[in-house]
Amino acid sequence: MKKESSAIPLDVRAFAQSAGQRSASDPLQKYERLLQDVGEEAAEVPVEWSAQGELRPVTGGPGQIWLHLQAHTRLPMTCQRCLADVEVALEVDRSYRFVADEATAEAEDDEAEEDVLALDPEFDLAALIEDELLMEMPLVPVHDVCPSEVKFEAVDEGFDKAMADKPKPFAALAKLRGGGLE
Ligand SMILES: [Zn+2]
Repeated sequence: MKKESSAIPLDVRAFAQSAGQRSASDPLQKYERLLQDVGEEAAEVPVEWSAQGELRPVTGGPGQIWLHLQAHTRLPMTCQRCLADVEVALEVDRSYRFVADEATAEAEDDEAEEDVLALDPEFDLAALIEDELLMEMPLVPVHDVCPSEVKFEAVDEGFDKAMADKPKPFAALAKLRGGGLE
């Protein structure tokens, strides 16, 4: 389990039964694994999220337990094409249906459009938010369209030489295309 201070324990069943609503804006440092990927300087970047519980009536049954989650953040990263700063927006909007146990969850998750999770008395909403945001992280952060290569012209020769020793396939490709894609 994650350490107590960053966990957001949630009784999902009660949350659904009461049609609960919860939202917050947490600093990124609350999400250790995300912060590790981005760097300490992003500790104060806000992660905004909101969650809604829903009990969906089922004829002749106890009703389905649903959790809807939205999360959003903008992470400062380094573009791997032009090496300038790039702000990577992560958006999560998912729904989960909770079932009694792990075996049922596994059996139903393949067929269901929604994610099926097992009810867990130790459920930690923060861990779910973090898992989802991590899955949205690009493997290689890049600008949609890189700004012009001003950065490279402004640096001194020593730096240029150091950089020249490193292969930069994307930067070279951008140059071949005249810097402007599309
Ligand atoms: Zn770029």
